[in-house]
Amino acid sequence: MTGNLWDRCLTCDYLCCAGYLSKSIFTTPQEKKNLPLINTKSPCAYLDGEGLCSVHPLRPFDCRLFPFDLIKEEGKFYWVIWDVKCRIVEEERSRFNDYLDEHETRLIPKIKQYLEEFNEWEDAEYKGKFKYEIIRELVIR
Ligand code: SF4
Ligand code: SF4
Repeated sequence: MTGNLWDRCLTCDYLCCAGYLSKSIFTTPQEKKNLPLINTKSPCAYLDGEGLCSVHPLRPFDCRLFPFDLIKEEGKFYWVIWDVKCRIVEEERSRFNDYLDEHETRLIPKIKQYLEEFNEWEDAEYKGKFKYEIIRELVIR
């Protein structure tokens, strides 16, 4: 795979980490322990003066997924994108499947046990506030 979908973040005006979304991040117990200031303020307490994540290697799984997300409908998990002005969503659609394959291979196996809890969090926080679009069903590898 060439390039990085998240290169877009370096020149993004919307900056999800600086807005409303930065106070609505799901954390596993370990992530919460590692990052006690998560969800405490907006912009995110871990956003540095240059608009970058100061805890990038430790950032929560929810941050790693963004702008992708997971919802459960009729017993199945689906990858979705929310309508939140993210440039990746607007400009990089042709590369989504490659990145979702990568998430399914590298990330999802590590947080499988939290999927149900994560989904309940996302439903409560976002459904009704933002429109979302289903991309495809999650494959748990
Ligand atoms: S809104 Fe999208 S492009 Fe902008 S910083 Fe967030 S993930 Fe990156
Ligand atoms: S932890 Fe890092 S990636 Fe997550 S919202 Fe905060 S600054 Fe952004």
